[in-house]
Amino acid sequence: MLILVVNAGSSSLKYQLIDMDDEKVIAKGNCDRIGIDGHISHKTHDGRTLNEDCSFPTHTEAFEKLVDTLLNSDASVIKSMSEISAVGHRIVQGAEIFSETTLVTDEVIDKIDELAELAPVHNHAHALALRACKKVFDPSVPQAVVFDTAFHQTMPPKAYMYGIPYEDYEKYHVRKYGFHGTSHRFVSMALAEAMGKDLKDLKVVSCHLGNGSSITAIENGKSIDTSMGFTPLDGIIMGTRCGAIDASAVTYLEKKLNMNPDEMSNYLNKQCGFLGVSHVSSDNREIYAAIHEGDEKAQLTADMLRYEIKKFIGSYTAVMNGLDAVIFTGGIGENSWEVRDGVCTNVDYLGIKIDHELNKTVRGTLTKISTPDSKVEVWVIPTNEELLIARDTLALISK
Ligand code: ADP
Repeated sequence: MLILVVNAGSSSLKYQLIDMDDEKVIAKGNCDRIGIDGHISHKTHDGRTLNEDCSFPTHTEAFEKLVDTLLNSDASVIKSMSEISAVGHRIVQGAEIFSETTLVTDEVIDKIDELAELAPVHNHAHALALRACKKVFDPSVPQAVVFDTAFHQTMPPKAYMYGIPYEDYEKYHVRKYGFHGTSHRFVSMALAEAMGKDLKDLKVVSCHLGNGSSITAIENGKSIDTSMGFTPLDGIIMGTRCGAIDASAVTYLEKKLNMNPDEMSNYLNKQCGFLGVSHVSSDNREIYAAIHEGDEKAQLTADMLRYEIKKFIGSYTAVMNGLDAVIFTGGIGENSWEVRDGVCTNVDYLGIKIDHELNKTVRGTLTKISTPDSKVEVWVIPTNEELLIARDTLALISK
């Protein structure tokens, strides 16, 4: 059975076609530059590729091209549309309305669109893509929406509330939502399987470290707290996002830099983080390349990241009253031995000890990097959000 997984942005539509019998990706690609001009890059499991300039005035033409490519191109992988049993869509913000994977209806799409106020960059684009996908696919093909925020809907109020007047939470829905939920859920399930334990018996800190990063405390298989907040800006320092900052510093800078709120938001999201502190790059690899050249600001950036991750691990251990495992995932978590090494050094008080030599060799493979006598197990676990979206979609349509 084939499931198409879609991750749509305002100008792009990333997709994977997954065969659920063996969970293999049989084709994947990206319809890019929607609303500008248009380009598709497509790759099949047996190595055929297609790169073509197209015309994508809207998401509808991108979906039409995607289907045509799967069916009729030199890199086709299916003979009939009917081979695609369902479509699963990644959605960034589900707020308090969606706490689980949900079947797509017109009403669901409208609600996702309404939530664009809370996620301006993403949700409206998701709604456009959902409407386009419904036009291109036969109505008999079920579609599901999987939310980045859903996993964190189990957080208790004491974790998700901000210290603002309660009526402003009620009226404007300002609270911590958390993101990367699909990734944290995927890697925590993979961890339990690798450890041969029931996730319900584990206290876990999951560190998803990429261009955007978030750290989640998982107890009894449920998210009980997470570092991202109302938006994905909060938490630890990221590629171009500042992470947690005193709100007064924001209003002060707004005045000093003579910025309006939109300009300030752009500054905090796009000009800060690794890029802003180091003035080298938003990319972790380039930060370490600069460190090897002796760049002090790059060193400071790397030190800040490792320090902030360590603080989250410590605070989440405190609130869970224990810790069984730490997970590293995302582009940095899976690949950067230096970041993992820095985080996992001098934390023996918490019971964390890693094999530093082994850690240096691990890139993107499921590996336990803690020593046999470490009280806490430390694992590198490659994330796979698309696969979990496909699994969720399959589970929902099988009901
Ligand atoms: P996104 O959040 O956009 O999905 P990724 O999860 O792909 O991002 O993570 C991107 C980050 O991972 C970048 O900072 C990049 O430098 C880092 N990264 C990727 N590969 C490596 C590597 N081999 N060594 C160190 N860092 C890496």
